[in-house]
Amino acid sequence: LLSPDGGLGVTIFEEMTTLALSTGAINLGQGFPDEDGPDEIKAAAQTAIASGANQYAPGKGLPVLREAITAHQQRFYGLAPDPDTEVLVTTGATEAIAATLLAFTQPGDEVLTFEPFYDSYGAIIGMAGATHVTAPLLAPDFLPDLSALEDVFSHRTRIVLLNNPHNPTGAVFPHHVLAKIVELAARYDAIIVSDEVYEHLTFGVDHIPIASLPGAADRSITISSAGKTFSFTGWKIGWLSGPEHLVSAVRTVKQFLTYSSGTPFQGAIAVGLGLPDDFFTGIASTLQHKRDILAEGLRAAGFGVYVPSGTYFINVDTAPLGIRDSVDLARRLPGLVGVAAIPVPVFCHPQGAERTRSLLRFAFCKKTSVLEEAAERLASLK
Ligand code: PMP
Ligand code: GLN
Repeated sequence: LLSPDGGLGVTIFEEMTTLALSTGAINLGQGFPDEDGPDEIKAAAQTAIASGANQYAPGKGLPVLREAITAHQQRFYGLAPDPDTEVLVTTGATEAIAATLLAFTQPGDEVLTFEPFYDSYGAIIGMAGATHVTAPLLAPDFLPDLSALEDVFSHRTRIVLLNNPHNPTGAVFPHHVLAKIVELAARYDAIIVSDEVYEHLTFGVDHIPIASLPGAADRSITISSAGKTFSFTGWKIGWLSGPEHLVSAVRTVKQFLTYSSGTPFQGAIAVGLGLPDDFFTGIASTLQHKRDILAEGLRAAGFGVYVPSGTYFINVDTAPLGIRDSVDLARRLPGLVGVAAIPVPVFCHPQGAERTRSLLRFAFCKKTSVLEEAAERLASLK
């Protein structure tokens, strides 16, 4: 399995999806929906392709998409980045993360993430030659201990890279945690990079963009992606926003990573960002229902279940089943019962891996019939 510190092997998602395919298991590992997003977004991409939008887009993104990104932020958060200078379209959130870290770090700089952390963070911090320091998120609510967080900040902290709502734990950071992060970033003059790809996938709690807190906007890059909100993970359209002095540095790096991103998909995602409010509330309530079905099934199968406030992932503790090692279980589970999942320790450095040794992540962005079938299969573990 991949060690998330830049020992670059095959990603855990690739490994577990390959295993699911070869065993015919239900894939609750890699997070991708098994149903496509709205038809009007698909139709917009098809029309764009048919009408010749097939050559390079401008490096910073099609104006129509940058304007839609600003309008979306205005509508939901009252934020208004200038579409011309403060918004950049990227090839998925993955490129936004990579370009941002490459733009602002050099060897010796520290990048602070919470742990567990999304796998590309560790790999890109390693590629940038920066030093990765972590602050743990602790069960049951997977929020940071604020005094421990204070201890890991220092004058070497160049970037605090947060992910809210958080993959893999499903935590949604409340205002007081975000305020502490802003306070510490200001104290140590660090840049805040906030990966908010699950911004619309929260259940009964509001997502608060960190850039909306006093004192945050001028030092923050906020990242999002069409993959999660619109269920088009394969289109790889992401974006970031922030003050011009930060966004222009990231744009410089992006020129040499991909130069520009998929032209016909950009216009289609602009259509998506303009959908009425009930589309956005609808995806959250549909997912909440799926969450509850899978949570119930996992409970019935004997796992300890941590019900998430956001994302499309549920973490379970395997210890109540007498299983201590989730990495070993994840490798065996597809063959054993026909379900694939992702072990949480792979999102950690060694100490964190020890702390999360019996945690396993299941994705619930699947048809309810698939979740019910998975729950039935998992029941045979007991
Ligand atoms: N950040 C997080 C927290 C993710 O879970 C993901 C993937 N789903 C990404 C970034 C990557 O997003 P994209 O597919 O848009 O590159
Ligand atoms: N973000 C998705 C997950 O966490 C997978 C993305 C990928 O395969 N790189 O499952």
